[in-house]
Amino acid sequence: MSTERLLTFTRDIIRLLETHPGEEQILTDGGKFLSTLVGNDDWLPEAYAQPHPQYYQQYLLYADPLDRLSIVSFVWGPGQKTPVHDHLTWGLVGVLRGRERETTYQKQENGTYKPTGNGVLHSGQTTAVSPAIGDVHEVANDLSDQVSISIHVYGANIGRVKRHVFDPATGEEKSFVSGYANNAVPNLWK
Ligand code: FE
Repeated sequence: MSTERLLTFTRDIIRLLETHPGEEQILTDGGKFLSTLVGNDDWLPEAYAQPHPQYYQQYLLYADPLDRLSIVSFVWGPGQKTPVHDHLTWGLVGVLRGRERETTYQKQENGTYKPTGNGVLHSGQTTAVSPAIGDVHEVANDLSDQVSISIHVYGANIGRVKRHVFDPATGEEKSFVSGYANNAVPNLWK
């Protein structure tokens, strides 16, 4: 199993960021690179594909030392899901294995959050979030009997960003920092 595809993706997206593109271009061009990456499920090392019986796992695959981006594998056990949350930066999501369900939310005038859309992403498909296009969502494994894995790319080291989870019914928000399950990252040159 080769991490070459991940190296190529990382290079492509850093080269893109080096051109100082607008966010729209990052999401469009970066989304194409991510589609290519998740179009083949033959490169993610096993260590970064392990589910946890209780919690969805976030494995750091690469983080830019200048905090311009981070690449994370999300491993969802059957039925696992996130709370409603924000990112405070642009993000791209591509499903590598299984199936994912995303529900987007929008803040209402009374401070609560209402679902505004709901969609299923199959393996090979991508989606995007950002404060400009909609930053609040809930993501779940759409499979009740299998692991799903998605690759997430963010415009910051997401494991160091102080952001929020929401109770959509009351609008109550809590700060959180997500962190990573792993202490070592993959060797991209192997
Ligand atoms: Fe998210």
